[in-house]
Amino acid sequence: MKRLFEADEIRGAVEQLGQQVAREYSEKSLTVLGVLTGSIILLADLVRAVDRPLTMGLIRASSYRGETTRPDNLTISDDVLPELEGRDVLLVDDILDTGRTLEALLERVERENPASLRSAVLLWKQGRQEVDLEPDFFCFRVPDVFVVGYGLDYNGEFRQLPFLAALEEQDL
Ligand code: IMP
Ligand code: MG
Repeated sequence: MKRLFEADEIRGAVEQLGQQVAREYSEKSLTVLGVLTGSIILLADLVRAVDRPLTMGLIRASSYRGETTRPDNLTISDDVLPELEGRDVLLVDDILDTGRTLEALLERVERENPASLRSAVLLWKQGRQEVDLEPDFFCFRVPDVFVVGYGLDYNGEFRQLPFLAALEEQDL
């Protein structure tokens, strides 16, 4: 594995993101909506860096990747989705890669009639995007490598790593 960002760099970036969110939503009824499962570490750290009232919610997106790094048919589960009507929703995911997941999630959440809807991702992968979409907030840009740690997995593993690393050819 090749280390990309150490725990203290991530902490600093998430802290800054939290301050930015607090400023942007100072007069709003903020709901931070995390995407299961990859966003949970970011979500937990981010909400503690946002110094203002907010509520939290979760939505699940799963695309079967198995042992490959290619996304396949995406399923969105809204069984734990809270009431979002009239809320200012910030959708939080781990990474924007092709953008298809975030696009589908935004479409799904829009149907709940939030007062506003924006997106935040930890990582914005460069060079693979297939949809015309920019995250409203992000922490780091990464090149076209497969990243694990701080919530991101490879076949279910490595989410607990406190740092971010790129898997190399021999790891896959
Ligand atoms: P997209 O739909 O291609 O943008 O993919 C987004 C989803 O794919 C993310 O929520 C992750 O679950 C997964 N994903 C994409 N790239 C990576 C990566 O480099 N490491 C781990 N998961 C990834
Ligand atoms: Mg994911």
